[in-house]
Amino acid sequence: MIKQGGTIGILGGGQLGRMIAMSAAQLGYRCHVFTPERDSGAAEVSAEATVAPWSDARAMERFAANCDVITLEFENIPTAALAPLEAKLFPGVRALEVAQDRLAEKRFVDELGGRPAPFLPVAEKLDLVRAIDTIGAPGILKTRRDGYDGKGQWRLDSAHEAESLRLPQVTCVYEGFVDFLAEFSVILVRGQDGEVRFWDSTENRHAEGILAQSVWPPNEIVTAQVGEARALAREVANALRYVGVLTLEFFATPTGPVFNEMAPRVHNSGHWTIEGAATSQFENHVRAVCGLPLGDTSTIAAQIEMDNLIGESVLKAQKVLFEPEAHLHLYGKREVRDGRKMGHVTRIWYS
Ligand code: AMP
Repeated sequence: MIKQGGTIGILGGGQLGRMIAMSAAQLGYRCHVFTPERDSGAAEVSAEATVAPWSDARAMERFAANCDVITLEFENIPTAALAPLEAKLFPGVRALEVAQDRLAEKRFVDELGGRPAPFLPVAEKLDLVRAIDTIGAPGILKTRRDGYDGKGQWRLDSAHEAESLRLPQVTCVYEGFVDFLAEFSVILVRGQDGEVRFWDSTENRHAEGILAQSVWPPNEIVTAQVGEARALAREVANALRYVGVLTLEFFATPTGPVFNEMAPRVHNSGHWTIEGAATSQFENHVRAVCGLPLGDTSTIAAQIEMDNLIGESVLKAQKVLFEPEAHLHLYGKREVRDGRKMGHVTRIWYS
């Protein structure tokens, strides 16, 4: 157990780290952020920050020596850089290795009995043509690594389209297009003793590959499929001996939940838990990595809607403060860019 006043290291400097650090402060911890980026919303609310590239081994060693425990808010960190931290890192390197690579992730879930969309690896044009031949079109070509918020993805409606596509210079995976009825995520926390708790699943709506809105209660299709999805998420967490908050995203289809991807961290679709659950995903993540008892994950509202503030929509955000049910969260990002997550609003109705 990490004592009060101890230091939690956070790898990554974005809004997820910012919200972890705010929960850590509530529980009496200090945070030290390691980020390659100068303008860091997480560093702004933390006691210390190291701004250095992931490859700076000396900076990483100093950071490790200064922290009692280390966690992450960003999963695409080269795992070789994490060797000096391994003994203190929750979740562990294996969880990152799996979640960083779409192909490894799908195979891992497949082996545990989960159901991803049909997929095949693509290294060159011929692989893509064969993959479309086997799986069919439409489908989506995704880079194996470093894709997020719909980046590194190309929808292909026919084999003909594949012929004219300039393949990215990195290995990819082609997956069949899922004609889903709804999207949802399962968010769980697993403690150091192996205890697992789940939050309720919201229905997630995306625009241009980016999460736009999470709503609770979700539609009946999602509610009916959450049990099966949770069983898979629990298996994944146990197989990885995972500690902390883990997110799995699913498509609800007429034949059951189809696994999309996992994130070894707190997740945008769980931001509603700050006001809408007895214990938020951020607080329970801190509790788990510090070896504290886990908090109650029950939903404490009748209706919840979380809307992301993306790009310029943030500029008029303060007007929501006139609404009694609205809770505004701004991430302190100085530069407004199209498609950039700048904040979110959670609207809660308690009855
Ligand atoms: P991802 O980055 O893989 O989570 O993709 C972002 C969003 O694109 C998802 O939340 C879906 O809305 C959509 N998407 C991704 N993969 C598929 C698929 N195989 N079939 C249908 N929609 C997809």
